[in-house]
Amino acid sequence: MTVTQGFLDGKIFHIVSGTARSLGVRAFVIGGYVRDCFLGRPSKDIDIVVEGSGIELAEAIGEKLHANVSVFRNFGTAMLKYKGVEVEFVGARKESYRYDSRKPIIENGTLEDDQKRRDFTINAMAFSLQEEDYGALVDPFGGIRDLAAGIIRTPLDPDVTYSDDPLRMIRAVRFATKLSDGDRKFTIVPESLESMRRNRGRLEILSKERIADELNKILVCPRPSIGFSLLEQTGLLEYILPQLCRLKGTESVDGRGHKENFSHTLEVLDNVAAAEIKDIAGCRLNDYEYENGVPVSKPRTEPCVWLRWAALLHDIGKPATKRYDAKSGWTFHGHEVVGARMVPKIFKSLKMPLNEKMKYVEKLVLLHLRPIALVTEEVTDSAVRRLLFDAGDDIDDLMLLCNADITSKNPRKVEKLRHNFDIVRQKLVEVEAKDAIRNFKNPITGEYIMELYGIPPCREIGELKETVKNAILDGIIDNDFGEADRLMRQRASEMGLVPVRKDR
Ligand code: ATP
Ligand code: MG
Repeated sequence: MTVTQGFLDGKIFHIVSGTARSLGVRAFVIGGYVRDCFLGRPSKDIDIVVEGSGIELAEAIGEKLHANVSVFRNFGTAMLKYKGVEVEFVGARKESYRYDSRKPIIENGTLEDDQKRRDFTINAMAFSLQEEDYGALVDPFGGIRDLAAGIIRTPLDPDVTYSDDPLRMIRAVRFATKLSDGDRKFTIVPESLESMRRNRGRLEILSKERIADELNKILVCPRPSIGFSLLEQTGLLEYILPQLCRLKGTESVDGRGHKENFSHTLEVLDNVAAAEIKDIAGCRLNDYEYENGVPVSKPRTEPCVWLRWAALLHDIGKPATKRYDAKSGWTFHGHEVVGARMVPKIFKSLKMPLNEKMKYVEKLVLLHLRPIALVTEEVTDSAVRRLLFDAGDDIDDLMLLCNADITSKNPRKVEKLRHNFDIVRQKLVEVEAKDAIRNFKNPITGEYIMELYGIPPCREIGELKETVKNAILDGIIDNDFGEADRLMRQRASEMGLVPVRKDR
């Protein structure tokens, strides 16, 4: 018997242990917490399994601690928060599945029954909370061995585990992605990968929300490419995001090929993740303040899943726009426009929010070529102002994405682009500090024009506002009401408009 020292020293474990004893039930710590103890990773929640009622045990503990207990009767679970940690209680279960649903028929069971229904051996380990063998590891499927070897394996025949609940296939990918860090690699065993390939059609019984939830968790990992390669290899990606599969492959005409866009996309995604981690450590692109003291960019404290989506989808419009021309070779003209248009459809297909988060992804996909286009052209103040105006507060993320998009096998080319990119970045900082375009608001409003000339909403108003906006962005006038008003009145007079009141 392995008795583990130190992992269960926390007061909460002793309280659970004592309360379970007084109720006459056996309780265990199970799942992610146990796994993360051995991996030396921080765990954000604790799962307790009870041979009896999880809800009753949670309520008894809640009373002792004067803590609120959330009860989910439908699921037979209860949760309480102890010092910021979520502690979840569930009765040990025996599950059987119907073929057409991932909702199991549940019966009360023993710890062993419960361990059998867990997804992976490394997630099926438990620590005893009984006084007589406090801290003993209960590991019937060799989870500790698989953890040491970096292996993801199902406790039962993978065809059974995956067919019962197909979400487990994506979870396998998620754990392979999340637990691989630095030199430690986690791989899915070959028989499990084959089973995933065989059972991929079972994804159909899952709700899109659950799939999207897992995708988001894969995306925020330090190297999300691991997950997307696995999804592709196992054929799961074809069910989840077929548009991404279309990026695969390369074609060649007259000996001229083009970039393999799937692997390029994954490289960009990893680059974004790496840059974001650096960012979180405090290296924001342009961490400066406005003159009036309002901070313009708040350094992130955690990865932004939407920025990762933007990276994943930045080239999604390429297959539809691919052309070969004998003179210029392969082109993907307008792929950013087509790609941006595909974003809402993809979000909808995964039942993801169609709100400002989606708009953000759309915007980044649409603008992802702009900073690099500046690199290859002359970097004028006017072009930089327009970029700032279009990107607004998302300029830092756009620059991060664009920098991550510089991938080439030719290191000299990469170095040159990076150098030019730094010039654009510097210019952005200068122009922004001078002109504060990022939060640009037209100093001339529609209401002002209507009142001044006594006119109803009409095309001329839009034209006048546009004239002012362009003049500011092109640096013809300053971002200032007086100058803007003078220009607007001059243009209005050319249009034949006369102010209704002389004194205004
Ligand atoms: P994380 O650190 O990401 O929360 P976790 O292992 O705690 O990882 P959860 O999704 O919180 O993962 O689930 C807790 C435990 O419940 C898992 O360790 C696993 O034992 C079990 N589990 C969760 N979902 C499933 C599932 N679909 N099928 C089987 N077991 C599952
Ligand atoms: Mg968990």
